[in-house]
Amino acid sequence: MTRTALYWLTHDLRIDDNAALRAAADADRLLCVYCLDPDWFRPTRFQAKPLGEHRWRFLCETLTELNRALQHYGQRLHVLFQEPVTALGNLIEQYRVDTLICSHAVGLDERQQLEQLKAEQPTLAVIECWTHTLFTPEHLPFGREHLQHYFSTARPACYKDTRNALDGDGGSGFSPWLANGALSPRQLVAALRDYEQQRVANESTYWLFFELLWREYFQWYALKYGVGLFRFRGIKTHPPLTSFYAGRYRQWIEGTTPWPIVNACMKQLAATGLMSNRGRQLVASCLVNELGIDWRYGAAWFQQQLIDHDVASNWGNWQYLAGVGADPRGQRHFDLDKQTRLYDPHGHFIRHWQGDTGITVLDSVDCAD
Ligand SMILES: Cc1cc2nc3c(=O)[nH]c(=O)nc-3n(C[C@H](O)[C@H](O)[C@H](O)COP(=O)(O)OP(=O)(O)OC[C@H]3O[C@@H](n4cnc5c(N)ncnc54)[C@H](O)[C@@H]3O)c2cc1C
Repeated sequence: MTRTALYWLTHDLRIDDNAALRAAADADRLLCVYCLDPDWFRPTRFQAKPLGEHRWRFLCETLTELNRALQHYGQRLHVLFQEPVTALGNLIEQYRVDTLICSHAVGLDERQQLEQLKAEQPTLAVIECWTHTLFTPEHLPFGREHLQHYFSTARPACYKDTRNALDGDGGSGFSPWLANGALSPRQLVAALRDYEQQRVANESTYWLFFELLWREYFQWYALKYGVGLFRFRGIKTHPPLTSFYAGRYRQWIEGTTPWPIVNACMKQLAATGLMSNRGRQLVASCLVNELGIDWRYGAAWFQQQLIDHDVASNWGNWQYLAGVGADPRGQRHFDLDKQTRLYDPHGHFIRHWQGDTGITVLDSVDCAD
């Protein structure tokens, strides 16, 4: 009997190290489909859109590349501008699809969509593959171009010393590809191990792996806590003492707060869709601790703006910093003046991003809006 499969691509936009694509390879007829959900382009209740212009551009480039790569295998990528459950349901019926192949998702919406599809298509065989994590459930509990380029340089060997830099060049820069799945964490670790064997293994190369474990941690955290990832009180029993102040939020977004370092980071984010890990920590601490704003507004803004947005890493890190995540130390409150002296002692970063212009003084009236 002819087997018709539909491969629903999500955060696995690559050919290599892709278990889902391998599972799809033995179908007699195969449809490769990516859905652009119209909801991604509309503001949520936190006033930001799930997909902003920087990541949208990056996504278009990745989809174009993938379509080109698939054509070598006689396939093409069908991109539909439709909510996935309806879009896939229609295709399943139209093409008499008997097998749906997709990657395991850790995000709640994606998992609910798959459950709904399964309920609506009870005879459909569903194959889910782990493509977005380093490990699979059996490993737990514990106890491309850029890839080649990065590992051909000396940067991995001094990663630990540079990763805290505000301009972002100190990190490995792999997060956008890891987020949309153009690169798998296993591919990255394999390249790291090669580098360690052929060039040097030191504290820095270990640290890069260690950071990937943070990413891994947040993936499994998202899967475990489900809706808790988006709750105001996170995984705690009491909500934080923050609220929503429209004026303050606008200052934060526009980079006109009283803190030049925060402003510089926020202007960099608006202009490029990027921000260093240090910058993310500082602006998150500012939103929660200095401005007293509900952390979810910050996470939603990051979701709209970041090229490397990853639901588990973003919302998980925000919870961690807001003191509603798994961190036993509670809320992380950074001293912004001290951080400025440490990470931008000569003010280069602040001047570059004009963090010291357009500063607005917070006043008590603002709290009422
Ligand atoms: C408030 C906040 C929001 C964040 N949102 C995201 C997000 O949406 N997407 C995202 O990929 N990362 C997010 N991070 C984590 C981190 O800031 C970025 O992964 C990192 O800055 C990306 O740059 P890089 O690839 O050079 O990282 P490197 O320092 O080179 O790290 C290597 C890889 O390890 C992973 N990693 C490093 N630090 C973390 C961390 N704290 N949490 C999870 N994974 C980590 C990333 O996959 C990264 O690409 C967030 C951090 C904070 C504090």
